[in-house]
Amino acid sequence: MYLKLPPRVSRIIHTLQAHGYEAFAVGGCVRDTVLGRVPDDWDITTSARPQEVKGLFTRTVDTGLIHGTVTVLLGDDSFEVTTYRIDGRYEDHRHPSQVRFSAELAEDLRRRDLTINAMAYNQEQGLVDLFGGMKDLQEKRIRCVGEARERFREDALRILRVVRFSAQLGFLIDPATEDALRSLAGDLAYVSAERIQVELVKLLRSDHPDYILRLFDTGIAEVVLPELVESAADPARAQSIADSLKKVPPERSLRLALLLHPLGEKKSQKLLRRLKFDNHTIDTVRRLVRWYGQPLGETPAQVRRSAAAIGAELFPQVLQVQGTYRDVTDVRRIWEEITEKGQCISLKTLRITGNDLIALGMQPGPAVGALLKELFVDVLEEPGHNDREYLIECAKRKL
Ligand code: ATP
Ligand code: MG
Repeated sequence: MYLKLPPRVSRIIHTLQAHGYEAFAVGGCVRDTVLGRVPDDWDITTSARPQEVKGLFTRTVDTGLIHGTVTVLLGDDSFEVTTYRIDGRYEDHRHPSQVRFSAELAEDLRRRDLTINAMAYNQEQGLVDLFGGMKDLQEKRIRCVGEARERFREDALRILRVVRFSAQLGFLIDPATEDALRSLAGDLAYVSAERIQVELVKLLRSDHPDYILRLFDTGIAEVVLPELVESAADPARAQSIADSLKKVPPERSLRLALLLHPLGEKKSQKLLRRLKFDNHTIDTVRRLVRWYGQPLGETPAQVRRSAAAIGAELFPQVLQVQGTYRDVTDVRRIWEEITEKGQCISLKTLRITGNDLIALGMQPGPAVGALLKELFVDVLEEPGHNDREYLIECAKRKL
């Protein structure tokens, strides 16, 4: 089988080979290339030790030397080059207690999670597929390398990764892998919130975000999203949430908001904090959840008022969220007109400022803000009034 490697990947592999080492592209990049997808990144596995890799390339970064990973920089690209590795015994369901380097590609492939993620490729040897990864790709199946139960006991995150890859690729889960996954779902409690967050987001942003339902029927949700279990107990409701995810672009805040809206603002926020999301995401999702189900108005003036309350940056996302359960064509048309005409929906673009009012003789203080607000409310009603001279005249009259 021939796969096209990017020139820089070939260059790294050939450099390593020229010095007597083995080297292959491995994992996700091989899987994606076989599928005709564009890989996010290219990982290389090699028999060379990290120090030896560092010796062969001018620009490298010590990404994880104890795990065998050196990042090689070529031009503006970077590639992780990792020494063949055997993960030692896992004692806490998430970290190998030790990592040993190996001289055998087969040992490195055996430690990987799924058959479709355990293939290696270079131009000289072609595809190295020791666990039937190619067949599983063709038959659209997610299957563990080796004995599933054992692999999940080593690292429980793999349980969630199985569902994530199944959602990204639209594949079914092999029965033996699924059995193991159901019986060991509870072990996800040992896994850090950060790692769970990464997999959850990839699942939500995948082509099949509705596969999130698998978390609920396998017992995974009880551990990673316990707050949602109650709202998902009603099958029709769960299905409608799952379907709504497919109606918006694969953007994390949008999809998180659709998933979490049954919890309301406070509980959503708490859940996202627990999963260690960044503050920006937490705040965006909280606001989207808050506006879920809220009327945005029907007349241009009403829509301008909602947009002013929501914020211009978030309003399009609120429209996307509401578009999953009602027809927002009219509101969208009004919104487009507001932006096209550059109508004022924020104090920031009001053509009069607090300083102007002070220059007109007002004492600095809350009254300044109150008058600005009054003028702003008038401009929301009548966009033509956002004219500096008009507003100053108006202010003078009120003073
Ligand atoms: P993505 O497109 O999401 O990056 P990927 O296959 O590259 O997909 P990564 O999480 O980047 O996934 O991992 C790279 C490779 O490392 C995987 O293809 C797999 O071979 C191996 N791997 C990653 N995580 C695990 C794990 N928890 N257990 C075993 N092998 C793993
Ligand atoms: Mg990757």
